[in-house]
Amino acid sequence: MSVQRRQSIAVDVGGVRIGGDAPIRVQSMTNTDTADIDATVMQVRDLALAGSELVRITVNTEEAAAAVGHIRERLDRLGVTVPLVGDFHFNGHRLLTRHPACAEALAKYRINPGNVGRGSRRDPQFAAMIEVACEHAKPVRIGVNWGSLDQALLTDLMDRNAASAQPRDTREVMHEAVIASALQSAARARELGLPAERIVISCKMSGVQDLIAVYTALAAQCDYPLHLGLTEAGMGSKGIVASTAGMAVLLQQGIGDTIRVSLTPEPGGDRTREVIVAQEMLQTMGLRAFTPMVIACPGCGRTTSTYFQELAQDIQSHIRARMPEWRRQYSGVEEMTVAVMGCVVNGPGESKHADIGISLPGTGERPVAPVYVDGERAVTLKGDDIAGEFQQMVEDYVASRYAPRTA
Ligand code: SF4
Repeated sequence: MSVQRRQSIAVDVGGVRIGGDAPIRVQSMTNTDTADIDATVMQVRDLALAGSELVRITVNTEEAAAAVGHIRERLDRLGVTVPLVGDFHFNGHRLLTRHPACAEALAKYRINPGNVGRGSRRDPQFAAMIEVACEHAKPVRIGVNWGSLDQALLTDLMDRNAASAQPRDTREVMHEAVIASALQSAARARELGLPAERIVISCKMSGVQDLIAVYTALAAQCDYPLHLGLTEAGMGSKGIVASTAGMAVLLQQGIGDTIRVSLTPEPGGDRTREVIVAQEMLQTMGLRAFTPMVIACPGCGRTTSTYFQELAQDIQSHIRARMPEWRRQYSGVEEMTVAVMGCVVNGPGESKHADIGISLPGTGERPVAPVYVDGERAVTLKGDDIAGEFQQMVEDYVASRYAPRTA
């Protein structure tokens, strides 16, 4: 079953297209102090190497804004071309006008309409940022966030709802306010001269059902490309499950042109995890391929040793470590599937469906491991180095199966 993507306008973000017929893009955000140029350059580089196709950095102070041009230069010198997106809030109008090098170095500006300024300051401050975007020919993401919704707009819609003959559920009115904030801001940006081809929209919510309801309605009301993400998803498995539960439903409906998984890292944890999770979400849904997939059975009472778990992990790590080189050398290698199964109950069947697969001996089975290549039994491994021999077979398979990339 293939997914029919919602039609959207294509937006060019520093050479990376979002929307239209472009693949669903993976993006991420740094958590370094942007004024700390060294730390930010290193984290952007790590996120880009992990596969982030756009990286957002916060631009919240004069020092941060002054650092952006230097960060771009340093990344360029390292050969890291990933577009940088600047995240602006209350003082964005000032920072963008006072720091033209920052405005120029960024490939896109994220503007939160709920955080551009209060009262009478809101409209001119929003206009100032859009004018800088027009002057530098940069796209903008109108990024509404449930937690910082434009309170004046919400109050107005709530009052009108309360006065109506048949008031709706307050949650529905809140959803309407989130969407109205995004679309009214996009309309205002266009009045100010920003073309539709430079507008991306997001309406991030922290609840899965809210996210699905809002994006389903938003997708029907505009053809701007949509940046999808569950905000404040949380830590560890909860963050991954919540993000996947919400985004998968929308992606399956063809909604979403770029995604970010907003995971809270564990203390000292690796920021690149959010990139891997986003890639795995898209790949397991069959929407994009990034790296060969390892299909491993969960193990059960037939695998009383941890041997097969270790092999599955070794193969996964080997593939991740080798992928940058394979990607440079071979075309299509990211589509490869590798099965690592714990016994012969389901092992041969699953191995036959994979490009290359191994079934390890379960408890009480003969100490041999049949390997299938392209659906045919190729060899039976035995002895002390089944893991090493299988890894070599994977290497040989990649070299023989995938065409060398031409420069
Ligand atoms: S393939 Fe074998 S070891 Fe793995 S879960 Fe199935 S029965 Fe258990």
